[in-house]
Amino acid sequence: MKKVPELFGSMVFNEAVMKERLPKDVFKALKKTRETGAALDPAVANIVAAAMKDWAVSNGATHYTHWFQPMTGITAEKHDSFISPSADGRVIMDFSGKELIKGEPDASSFPSGGLRATFEARGYTAWDPTSDAFIKDNTLCIPTAFCSYTGEVLDKKTPLLRSMDAISKQAVRVLKLFGKEVQRVTTTVGPEQEYFLINREDYAKRPDLILTGRTLFGARSPKGQELEDHYFGSIRPRVKAFMEELDEELWKLGIYAKTEHNEVAPCQHELAPIFSTTNIAADHNQLTMEVMKKVAQKHGFVCLLHEKPFEGVNGSGKHNNWSISTDTGENLLEPGKTPASNAQFLLFLTAVIKAVDEYQDLLRISVATAGNDHRLGANEAPPAIVSMYIGDELQAVVDALVNGVPLQNAALGEMDTGVLAIPNIPRDNSDRNRTSPFAFTGNKFEFRMPGSSLNIACVNIMLNTAVAEELRLFADELESASDFQDALNTLVRREIKAHQKILFNGNGYGAEWPAEAEKRGLLNLRSTPDAIPHYTDEKNLQLFARHGVYSESEMRSRQEIVLAEYNKTIHIEALTSLDLLRKSILPACLAYSKTLADGIAIKSPLHLPVEAETKLVEKVSQLTNQLYEKAEQLETTLSSLPEESLEAARYYNHTVLPAMEAARSVADQLELCVAREYWPMPSYSDLLFYI
Ligand code: ADP
Ligand code: MG
Repeated sequence: MKKVPELFGSMVFNEAVMKERLPKDVFKALKKTRETGAALDPAVANIVAAAMKDWAVSNGATHYTHWFQPMTGITAEKHDSFISPSADGRVIMDFSGKELIKGEPDASSFPSGGLRATFEARGYTAWDPTSDAFIKDNTLCIPTAFCSYTGEVLDKKTPLLRSMDAISKQAVRVLKLFGKEVQRVTTTVGPEQEYFLINREDYAKRPDLILTGRTLFGARSPKGQELEDHYFGSIRPRVKAFMEELDEELWKLGIYAKTEHNEVAPCQHELAPIFSTTNIAADHNQLTMEVMKKVAQKHGFVCLLHEKPFEGVNGSGKHNNWSISTDTGENLLEPGKTPASNAQFLLFLTAVIKAVDEYQDLLRISVATAGNDHRLGANEAPPAIVSMYIGDELQAVVDALVNGVPLQNAALGEMDTGVLAIPNIPRDNSDRNRTSPFAFTGNKFEFRMPGSSLNIACVNIMLNTAVAEELRLFADELESASDFQDALNTLVRREIKAHQKILFNGNGYGAEWPAEAEKRGLLNLRSTPDAIPHYTDEKNLQLFARHGVYSESEMRSRQEIVLAEYNKTIHIEALTSLDLLRKSILPACLAYSKTLADGIAIKSPLHLPVEAETKLVEKVSQLTNQLYEKAEQLETTLSSLPEESLEAARYYNHTVLPAMEAARSVADQLELCVAREYWPMPSYSDLLFYI
């Protein structure tokens, strides 16, 4: 292996490469575009494209693709080769500025939620010059946004970039009030990624994993995660080799993979990168998931990114660590040392508290998928109720503010400015409340509800826009105030008082919390169909329209897409269940009971004792009958699906899923009494405890 600094970013057309390969003025023009979003001159684009192509070809690339993030799935790419015929019948490797800036994939098979009429199925992709191009599998990948010809967005990146602009604009206004001249504010994200690694041979024998990403059947293994011996335990050598290669591949792509460790559940692991600007973090996380899957295959594993692949052990999440910082390098969620910077910190903190309270529904919606529904609210992941944990130190400050009294601690009295001083908050106090969905961890917030397979753009679009809105309101109020300090104190006290109901420092997994949350008036949107209708609530339509992030038609189309995806997911699961029941599980149970009955028939005339077989065959036969009935019932549920998508989603949730569960519960009982050699699939023990 090459030395890490040499390896790092070696497959990325990054600023260092640009500087080396581009004429000075072109480099400058491109840099300006990257920093300010200014449009790129076509002449400049041609030179950039040529340099990019030369660099890519010299690194073994033969193709290029506009790499984008449609509204479903991981990422999409359509490969074109660089070849262009030359007059002498040979080919040259060619790539123009036009090809770099704009692509036109046939987009008819990507979901648009009704935005595009089928006669105008094309969309176009537009280069996002702020995210570096890279080489993957001999292909130059150009990060792009994806739009319809009528200008509506069809991807997750465009609204993310818009939301970043929105929060920047408002934060710059607020900072100006504190006498700070900054040009741009960016949100930063470090997504911790959880995943399972299982043996490829086992995976190949589980149609449920292959078709749905999760096990639809499987009795619990005698051992689960109760000993907690996997968490931070030593890493199996095969897994270690996988992690090493994964790190190497990610480093080549300029991804700051930093921490790799085991998680709580058997064969569950986590990868945490060093944080970066949100759109880059989102691109990198998408790439990370893809590379994980590929590298796993090379090591005889399959990487499962489903939120709940196994019942009875933890599912996988993706913690979205989020903060806001200025182009001058200041982290706005870092409590300051001086009263003035504390005041500024408190204002941003207040904006986040207010945003999370007022837009709880959007945060919940941003993580709503069929897979994640199995996780939220179970005793392992945050509940479906959005609340915030800010730690004891900050809570004391907030309480003092609300009650209008100075802090007890003498060192923390009211300062000249009338703003409370913030005590020194220990960094990384994240471990103190792992049950909170939205926790302050010293200089950033950690949102723990996202599921492992989610595109983090979804979450950050909501967060950025909601906080942008609060900052806008704050800036409006403070800009027009005659006495800034006075107005600031009034605002912070008033807003914290109004939104403190979202703050909860107790046990989010506790049985009392849902009742308490209800008393406080917090939302408890248990499932995707419960959550999604709120997406187009009037306040949310207004929010996104005001900040130019989504138009109403874009939001309605997204709502439609999420529901359709939910419905399709459960439909496929139901059909897979039926298929397994009828073609594998029932036949196995029948074969086993036949063997038992044959044994009885052979032994009885010889007057041999047959109590064991008789009892067993009775039990297996009874359960098999039940299972047959459950399969029939499951099929019946699928015969009367409502047409309308929300109604259908509710039906899948309340009728189809329980029918699947009922069948599973009988099948799992059978798995425990049918002989191993008859059972058609690897067991949970086989899957989770390999060597
Ligand atoms: P834990 O396991 O305690 O939740 P980790 O140390 O595994 O925390 O991960 C913390 C994540 O937070 C890392 O990805 C880190 O880069 C990220 N992070 C740190 N500072 C910031 C910041 N200012 N903005 C966004 N993310 C950050
Ligand atoms: Mg974490």
